[in-house]
Amino acid sequence: MSEKLIFEKSVVGRRGVTFPKVAEVIDAYIPKKYQREIPLPLPEISENDLIRHYTRLSSQTYGVDTGFYPLGSCTMKYNPKIHEEVARYAGFANIHPLQPVQTVQGSLQLLYELQQYLCEISGMDQVSLTPSAGAQGELAGMLMVRAYHKAAGRLGRCRVNVIIPDSAHGTNPASATLAGFNIQTVKTNAEGGIDIDDLMKVVDDKTAAMMLTNPNTLGLFEKEIGKIGKIIHDAGALLYLDGANLNALLGLTRPGDLGFDIVHFNLHKTFSTPHGGGGPGAGPVGVKSALIPFLPYPLIEKNTKRKTLSNSPLSGREQVYHFEKGRRKSVGRVHGFYGNFGILLRAYTYIRRLGAEGLLAISRNTIINANYLKGLLEKSFPVPYSRPCMHEFVVTAKKFMPQGVHAWDIAKRLMDYGFYPPTVNFPLIVEEALMIEVPESESKETIESFANAMRAIGDEIEKDPEKVTGAPHTRPISRVDEVFAARRLNVRFLMP
Ligand SMILES: *Cc1c(COP(=O)(O)O)cnc(C)c1O
Repeated sequence: MSEKLIFEKSVVGRRGVTFPKVAEVIDAYIPKKYQREIPLPLPEISENDLIRHYTRLSSQTYGVDTGFYPLGSCTMKYNPKIHEEVARYAGFANIHPLQPVQTVQGSLQLLYELQQYLCEISGMDQVSLTPSAGAQGELAGMLMVRAYHKAAGRLGRCRVNVIIPDSAHGTNPASATLAGFNIQTVKTNAEGGIDIDDLMKVVDDKTAAMMLTNPNTLGLFEKEIGKIGKIIHDAGALLYLDGANLNALLGLTRPGDLGFDIVHFNLHKTFSTPHGGGGPGAGPVGVKSALIPFLPYPLIEKNTKRKTLSNSPLSGREQVYHFEKGRRKSVGRVHGFYGNFGILLRAYTYIRRLGAEGLLAISRNTIINANYLKGLLEKSFPVPYSRPCMHEFVVTAKKFMPQGVHAWDIAKRLMDYGFYPPTVNFPLIVEEALMIEVPESESKETIESFANAMRAIGDEIEKDPEKVTGAPHTRPISRVDEVFAARRLNVRFLMP
């Protein structure tokens, strides 16, 4: 299992490939001043050893293609392989962002239609596809909130606060802070919803917006959403939906119909584009009509009149789709060109393949899956806010504290049973939280074997807690110093 680093395997003079030394060829292509003799600090290894090294490493990793990933709030669903095939079509893979728009009409049509689909799915009036992550969609949303109040003459000092529930994802307060707002927190009530009395205490004419997640991070639908929307709108503020996880809403209801003014989508969660390891992702942001002027630039537009080009060499071609001419009130660009095209293309393929009925089936199956697993686990792992859930639910491992076992120990032990660990210690309002999400693409058998593993770990804690606190025992590396890795990340290999 232990695999040395590729640099440690290096043997001076060993080669994977040898190039003929043809001085004339080099001189013909590379000007003399750029040619150099400095040896590069690269590993020296044979092709055979190189291939074996990376093949072995690839078999040590874990992903959605190897097993179930119950990572709450992250929707790690199966990524259909047809997406990869489509992304490799030469007409998509070989285009350049600076090509004349007349030569990329098909790609622009795809982006235009994706804007339309996301509007239809969310009940919003316009969508900008450009943000490249959920957090960036949030930031774009918060910048729009600023721009909106500014344009209405309620400048900076008046609308300074953004209200965020205590169960929110950490990116929410981070995005609002980055956009220059103060954060006000509202409490969660005993049923796992917004505490309306607490909300009433903080809402006033200084409120710029409220950021809400629905279903919230406990996996529960916010039943008072109509009332909350009214309170926020009556105060002259905007309602923002963190729509990272739409897996339980698709086709059942629409954020726009629930009263939200702004929403961001995580295409790399709900719409099955690959994610993990930090990207690339896509976090489009959608708005109601009053906020369209502020959307990030550029939107894709469609001509209403036919426009045939006359200038050669493009004469005779039709230009139907184009980038909009600047909107003066736009918050500007948040990404180069028009976002992560390859990711947008995969989400488009997903939506086209499923259609409206397929999208609805996602939500139905997600909700059934999550509630089925919740039912299987609840006896061994209590669910503090236990009403029927949407796409995920949160259990607490508090009862194992006398044995010295924490939520993260259970998460680590799950790896020995062949599962990826769930999200732990989030949301912050649940002690020893394990946040478990089951996408629609998981089978009944997988769900049951995961439940069996969890229950077996519960039994182990009673009999032999050290087996759990010392886990994982079967992985190439056991416990790592996570704080050190997060704070002092330096992935360079330094030659000894
Ligand atoms: C994942 C997630 C985000 C952030 O999305 P990124 O693409 O990781 O920036 C925000 N809110 C919720 C609820 C999420 O689950």
